[in-house]
Amino acid sequence: MFWDETIETLGRDSLDKLQLERLQKTVRRVARHVPFYSQKFAAMGLKPGAIRSLADVRRLPFTTNADLRDNYPDGLVAVPPQKRLRLHTSSGTTGKPKALFFSRQDVNQAAELIARCLVMAGTTSADILQNMMTYGLFTGALVMHYGAEKLGMLVIPAGPGNSEKQLLLMQDFRTTALHTTPSYALYFADFLEKKEVDPRKELALRKAFIGAEPYTEETRRKIELALGVEVYNSYGLSEMNGPGVAFECMARQGMHLWEDNFLLEIVDPQTGEPLPEGQTGELVLTSLCREAMPILRYRTRDITSIVPGPCPCGRTHRRIHRITGRSDDMLIVRGANVYPQQIERVLMSLPAVGRNYLICLEGLDEMTVKVELSDASFDGQVDHLVHLQSQIADKLRAEIMVKPKVELVAPGTLPISEGKAKRVVDKRVL
Ligand SMILES: [Zn+2]
Repeated sequence: MFWDETIETLGRDSLDKLQLERLQKTVRRVARHVPFYSQKFAAMGLKPGAIRSLADVRRLPFTTNADLRDNYPDGLVAVPPQKRLRLHTSSGTTGKPKALFFSRQDVNQAAELIARCLVMAGTTSADILQNMMTYGLFTGALVMHYGAEKLGMLVIPAGPGNSEKQLLLMQDFRTTALHTTPSYALYFADFLEKKEVDPRKELALRKAFIGAEPYTEETRRKIELALGVEVYNSYGLSEMNGPGVAFECMARQGMHLWEDNFLLEIVDPQTGEPLPEGQTGELVLTSLCREAMPILRYRTRDITSIVPGPCPCGRTHRRIHRITGRSDDMLIVRGANVYPQQIERVLMSLPAVGRNYLICLEGLDEMTVKVELSDASFDGQVDHLVHLQSQIADKLRAEIMVKPKVELVAPGTLPISEGKAKRVVDKRVL
């Protein structure tokens, strides 16, 4: 089933040709309307007409997080005020937010891509979507909302949190699909367990679209088991519309990235040099259709690789693997590069481990991983705990090349975040 079969199955040559036309148009537009880019082009001696092939994308400058902040609030906008229709912001951990503008065409196009994603994941206009993302300045909820409406679904704009109300909505309106973050999905699964609600018997859920935070295959399986749903991985970022940049089809072997809208590169995060197809590196995206705020070669900081070969679903747009970390999140612990995702992957593969953990960095490069036990393994038997503790420490050492201290804690004792999970506390005095 396709939303737009022609474009979703376009042959490689036609897709390349379309990308080149759109890239050239984008470059001409930013050269004319965005001083930030025209000044960069001038400094590099680059004329828009010099972009003659897709490989020429390498001649264009990167755009970084810092560029978006430096040009806050509207320095990167390419349309006059009367064509600006919606504002979103993306907050960071420090300093000013990034402001992202949408024109009417951008709002429509973002919805179009979501409609493709939802049909690709096997939902139809008969489905009922409970949107548990945060409505507001964050793109996550509104962009999905408009896309699901475009497909014709009934959308329940529940927002996050308030699990009692979420459950009532699911029961009363027979919600079939959820859109949420992995951390809230896990939290909600715990809530159902405590309420002794069996989702397979008492709810109508069948699919969950999970995004906004990276998560692992093990977490996917936990959510699927606990909520009785099929989980589909969703990737997006506010700088490129929000959700709907890449999404899993029913084969669930990587996420199709909509290449008619985004030009994708994988580069070495240190050098910025393009990597050969299949290698893991930083995802760099150029918007090809965004009208209000086109962005060239955006350094997403997300670490992934391209899935080789064609997909059984018949779509031609290339797939990326789930995000395995952020180049920003990379921790350097005793000289080793450590991604919090690697730690999560190890913990979630152990059935005795619960759904929450915290990575604490203290003193002179000491790492402690605090791990919640699952209810079943919390039996008070000291020898069990000692064994589990050393098992976790050994597995972590094998994965991250550093042996952390492991602290086991009772179920439900670590702080829970209902939004973006905060899993690392760094209090090192280095
Ligand atoms: Zn596919």
